[in-house]
Amino acid sequence: MPTIFAKIIRGEIPGDIVYQDDLVTAFRDINPAAPTHILIVPNKVIPTVNDLTPEDEATAGRMLLTAKKIAEQEGVAEDGYRLIINCNKHGRQEVFHLHMHIIGGRQLGPMDVKI
Ligand code: 5GP
Repeated sequence: MPTIFAKIIRGEIPGDIVYQDDLVTAFRDINPAAPTHILIVPNKVIPTVNDLTPEDEATAGRMLLTAKKIAEQEGVAEDGYRLIINCNKHGRQEVFHLHMHIIGGRQLGPMDVKI
């Protein structure tokens, strides 16, 4: 079953895509927690961080470098932002297609509260 994110990546359903290359796609979160809330997603479906393999090293690295690029594009790099990857039940992961949240554009709360 394709994930909702795979459908956005393939253009089958609308998504506000801000960046795409051969390994990752980034689009705005449908329910933003802050003025900037973008999801950076591998083009290949990897359900969770637990499913990463050594072959995914380039993809995992690209996710982080894409976060840096998007922070600059969005104008939040200097003031700062937060990168979050939720995993499974305790991490409150809702969509089982690995994704990194980039959240910024306002002062965030402490790490252990809902963002
Ligand atoms: P998780 O809890 O899995 O880390 O976060 C999933 C995120 O995906 C949530 O912030 C949610 O708002 C976002 N989301 C869920 N469905 C869609 C969708 O169809 N489109 C977009 N752009 N974001 C979505």
